[in-house]
Amino acid sequence: SPAILWLRQDLRLADNIALEAVSHHLFFAVYIWDDEDPWSPGGASRWWLHKSLLSLHRSFQERGVQLILRKGKPLQVLKHLVQETKACAVYWNRCYEPYVIKRDQEIKSSLKQEGIFCQSFKGSLLTEPWEMQTTTKGAYQVFTPFWNKLKEISFARPLSVPDLQGFKPSVFSESLEEWHFNPTLWGRGLEEIWTPGEQGAWDNLSGFLNDGIQSYASRRDIPSGQYTSRLSPHLHWGEISPTQIWHEALLSCGKDSLPFLRQLGWREFSCHLLFHFPHMPFQNLRVSFSDFPWQDNPDHLKIWQTGQTGYPLVDAGMRELWHTGWMHNRVRMIVASFLVKHLLIPWQQGKEWFWDTLVDADLANNAASWQWVAGSGADAAPYFRIFNPVLQSEKFDPHGLYIKQWVPELQALNSPHIHSPWKASAQILEKAGVTLGKTYPFPLVDHAFARQRALDAFAR
Ligand code: FAD
Repeated sequence: SPAILWLRQDLRLADNIALEAVSHHLFFAVYIWDDEDPWSPGGASRWWLHKSLLSLHRSFQERGVQLILRKGKPLQVLKHLVQETKACAVYWNRCYEPYVIKRDQEIKSSLKQEGIFCQSFKGSLLTEPWEMQTTTKGAYQVFTPFWNKLKEISFARPLSVPDLQGFKPSVFSESLEEWHFNPTLWGRGLEEIWTPGEQGAWDNLSGFLNDGIQSYASRRDIPSGQYTSRLSPHLHWGEISPTQIWHEALLSCGKDSLPFLRQLGWREFSCHLLFHFPHMPFQNLRVSFSDFPWQDNPDHLKIWQTGQTGYPLVDAGMRELWHTGWMHNRVRMIVASFLVKHLLIPWQQGKEWFWDTLVDADLANNAASWQWVAGSGADAAPYFRIFNPVLQSEKFDPHGLYIKQWVPELQALNSPHIHSPWKASAQILEKAGVTLGKTYPFPLVDHAFARQRALDAFAR
């Protein structure tokens, strides 16, 4: 009787341990849209998932393997499939969201009770979150010692694509089109930039290894141009594994790749934190933040979301996010700091917007990063260190190239005025065709005022 490969965030053929294990059987694959998942993917991620499943479907089809799509409670769906196909085993790669861990444990014990063999594997991390322990056998809460340990591990070589013995069960598959994950208008901007799927992931990686990784350390903070790998959505959906990236980077430029690999370390660290502190997506990791005087302000939130704050770099970032489903890391830090410290809006509200609009939205990375910026997280930036959006802009986008790309109404302004148009003379603004309050907003808050207000709130 056949086996079932249950795909989740491992939408690839190579270096897929569950696929390797199931390939010893006749098998078919299933992707289940869990409609009870409290963290079901947001809009941009659903767009990605749609495209990625199409790509995987094609790869499986070429090898005679059927990919079945079903919506519902995973346990029920798997039980139905077992009944319909007389399958004897289910294999999957692990995910680490708290809800998923609990759900999968229940599924495993329930299927085992019915005599179905179940096995899960490490699929999306370099090390399991429970494998990394401090000298006192606890969880890490500081990144540097975590990284020092991780970088010394020599990871097994990634697996290649196994020979597959496809099985065509006579069961129905739902249609991807009917899941409506592919918004026509919004999707157009995403389509210009991204090629979801395993091939797209490898194209990105090889482009980056040929031209990017050598200068990663010196250029990774520059938001104009493509100086980082842009592998984050591919990694989130498991179209490529961190082990594959680790090996390829070391092979291509040895120890020089460490500044880049360190970022994969941050990804592992976020997941480690989520595993050990499952309340991280909702609650401050530092309890001293529990009485912080946040301000609920839906109008300011909307202004931030739509990139109309009057701070050009912040607005450029928020518009890049809306148009492409991605934002440069340095700019993510600046816009997040602006929301939390300049506007005093709770980090959870920013995290939710990112969740819906990022193609790489990832529970662990998103929550850990927002808490890092807010100062409430593990090993976080101190709250009193408040980014000045103008100085950041002058430093990391000195010629305003990034701003000109995403805030075209300021295109005719040059440095230094493009970083703070309200400081430019009436004559300069007029020449550039900028009318503050009309073609581009005045700053939503004054930096010095907002900084002091945040510091006072923190002191309280
Ligand atoms: P590269 O610089 O090429 O790094 C390679 C890989 O390392 C990335 O693909 C990513 O998987 C990982 N990585 C890089 N930086 C970080 C980091 N700071 N923390 C954890 N992992 C990292 N990343 C997400 O993948 N999903 C999110 O939902 C997410 N939300 C964020 C929210 C905020 C407020 C901030 C400040 C950062 C967030 N990040 C998130 C981290 C980071 O911004 C992105 O991973 C990175 O910009 C992706 O671009 P890249 O693939 O070119 O990264």
